Amino acid sequence: MEQLIIRAGNDYPVLIGEKALGKIRQFILDLSPEVTSTLLLIDETVYQYHKDMIHESIPFDDIHVLPAGEKAKTFAVYEQVMGKALESGLDRHSLIIACGGGATGDLAGFTAATYMRGIRYIQVPTTILAHDSAVGGKTAINHPLGKNMTGSFHQPSAVVYDSSFLRTLPEREIRSGFAEVIKHALIADHDFLQELMKHVTDFKTLDQDFLQYALKKGIQIKGEVVAKDEREQNIRAFLNFGHTYGHAVEAWSGYGGKLHGECVMIGMVYAILLSQRQTELKFDLDGFLVWVHSLGYETKAAAPFEELLKLMKNDKKNLKHHIRFVLLEEVGKPVLKKIDQEELLQVHRLLQQRGE
Ligand code: NAD
Ligand code: ZN
Repeated sequence: MEQLIIRAGNDYPVLIGEKALGKIRQFILDLSPEVTSTLLLIDETVYQYHKDMIHESIPFDDIHVLPAGEKAKTFAVYEQVMGKALESGLDRHSLIIACGGGATGDLAGFTAATYMRGIRYIQVPTTILAHDSAVGGKTAINHPLGKNMTGSFHQPSAVVYDSSFLRTLPEREIRSGFAEVIKHALIADHDFLQELMKHVTDFKTLDQDFLQYALKKGIQIKGEVVAKDEREQNIRAFLNFGHTYGHAVEAWSGYGGKLHGECVMIGMVYAILLSQRQTELKFDLDGFLVWVHSLGYETKAAAPFEELLKLMKNDKKNLKHHIRFVLLEEVGKPVLKKIDQEELLQVHRLLQQRGE
């Protein structure tokens, strides 16, 4: 088991490993002696699969089971959870524990950020994608007019990442989440990318030790970027590599149609193609495509360019309607660049020819 410290807001620990959950009791005691009560918010599927382990390891005074996945990130669920927190008598020294994937973490984090103007929370991520979402303090729920449009920055007090949850995660969710691990390698660490390409050849037989190592590296990279720019004024935007085009594909497919990480992979290949034209990037794209296709990723989108363009213009990273892209000058060296529409169309066409 390993412990990292994320230096953003109040520095907080991330504990990663098999049986990490066994340590949560001590974490809560260490947080401060004055935690008055705890409310566990848990994804219903996770609760079904891991009920015994949860009751054995997590000390909670009250529990609220959330609809699985994205269905938790609504105003209706938020209101129910606020009601539950009030009925349970949570006060400003209480603690929320979020146990589930990124959706649970986002809803629970937003609840913690806003209940009595902010109480503490601990993230207990249960998906691969949540190695990314549990760290960094972004919390949000969706509005019918836009995903993540109501949210806040609120750092967790700790992250307890027990890899034994991942055994019940469907392969498609593993693939989706792993796209963000690959993203962390692309933006920060050439050697890490090489290691991934060597060791990750099939998600069904992924070596557990290597998986834990890769998740730890991903969290470390995210933590370092966030520590430098907690509120996304500048370099935190690099974490959006692959997300401008990727988010547009995700929105076009209807959220829930294609999974987030599946779209991010398409967006990353797009951003690499764009980088090859806009920067000095030298990158073996053929080798990369062979690898990701063998892992089951798709790398092109059926969406019409005009639709994607409209969606990309809504991206939160844009300032005054310019489309800004995170590109790579090298693996590990991202830059932000404004790109004009004609170039975006050309690269969309290139992707259609190159992708699978
Ligand atoms: P998710 O939370 O929607 O979970 C995916 C599915 O897996 C759900 O059906 C869930 O019930 C199930 N599940 C979760 N853990 C499981 C387990 N251990 N075993 C079996 N099934 C399990 O998906 P996700 O991919 O973890 O997160 C996606 C969400 O994260 C999106 O809402 C996205 O906006 C958000 N996100 C937030 C940030 C951030 O910085 N806050 C970053 C990236 C993504
Ligand atoms: Zn993402």
